[in-house]
Amino acid sequence: MKHEAMMKAVVLRAFGEPEVLEYGEVPRPAPRPGEVLIEIRCCGVCHLDLILRKGMRSRVKPPRIIGHELAGTVAEVGEGVEGFAPGDRVASFNFQACGVCEDCLRGRPSLCRQTHGDIGQTRDGGYAQYACLLQGNLVKLPEGMPFEHACFGACVFAPPYKAIRHVGQIRAGQSVVITGASGGLGLAAIQIVRALGARSIAITGSQGKVEALRAAGADEVVVSPDGAFGEQVRGLTGGRGVDLVVELIGSPTFDGAMRSLAPGGRCAVIGELHGTPVSINLGLVILKEWEIRGVQSATRDELAEVLGFMHEHRIEPVVWQKLPLAQAAQAHRLLGDREAIGRILLVP
Ligand SMILES: [Zn+2]
Ligand SMILES: [Zn+2]
Repeated sequence: MKHEAMMKAVVLRAFGEPEVLEYGEVPRPAPRPGEVLIEIRCCGVCHLDLILRKGMRSRVKPPRIIGHELAGTVAEVGEGVEGFAPGDRVASFNFQACGVCEDCLRGRPSLCRQTHGDIGQTRDGGYAQYACLLQGNLVKLPEGMPFEHACFGACVFAPPYKAIRHVGQIRAGQSVVITGASGGLGLAAIQIVRALGARSIAITGSQGKVEALRAAGADEVVVSPDGAFGEQVRGLTGGRGVDLVVELIGSPTFDGAMRSLAPGGRCAVIGELHGTPVSINLGLVILKEWEIRGVQSATRDELAEVLGFMHEHRIEPVVWQKLPLAQAAQAHRLLGDREAIGRILLVP
């Protein structure tokens, strides 16, 4: 009987404007072998969701329930599932690497080209009351960690965490420039830097974001609509520059990022919004021994580490709006207008 139960969900019926997100009742999924049924407590709305809704990624075939930033409670486990039981509190990790390709075997699963279980793309995701996910997509929450914090672990906190801790190896007393600081990842980066006892210099293009950046914990805020902030950053660091740049904008700010680096500094590139080629002074790269490193997604193990770090340091994601699931289309409109500071959360 229970497998004929229904649930509320937002289904992407076709590609297009936010109206294509249709709220209604659909059959509740039942876990197949290796799958876990999650009762969803909340799901973040991501810029990727807007891209998928518009049909700009071929992997999604409507009808599809999108949303990959979900957290909730295990309701039921399928045959052969080990390590999860009903009642466990979990958050999702976007995809599952194949585990057998050359990149997976050398410990770089974020480079795997044969991923599966892409939540909200090749399988139904988080804009619903329930979702069936592969057990490899799930990470247990630290004791007492709120769902509304945990759902942002994989997509919002893990990339800057990887940039700051694993690429930058930032310690107390060091300094970090964050470009595009008022976006979700930028605010997360500010919070991570602060938790480590390091100093953050937040770069934003808009005067109107200064207050919010200070409220999020930025030590310095530089308003730079044209990306030429290198001089100011050196001025703020006694002429030396910073140990790490977390580059969330990409080509428009990359020159400023390079000019901000101290000798031996690193630039972790997480975002590229424009896709324009940049020029680099290789003489300086040699003389200063700079390192430039791309950061894609974290791994599932790194997500567990990030959740532990967030919980230990009492980091609360900046949630801009909390909306009921039925208002998913409205959430997409709000995020599309780019006025948001912080994230939007859907609650079933
Ligand atoms: Zn996301
Ligand atoms: Zn692989």
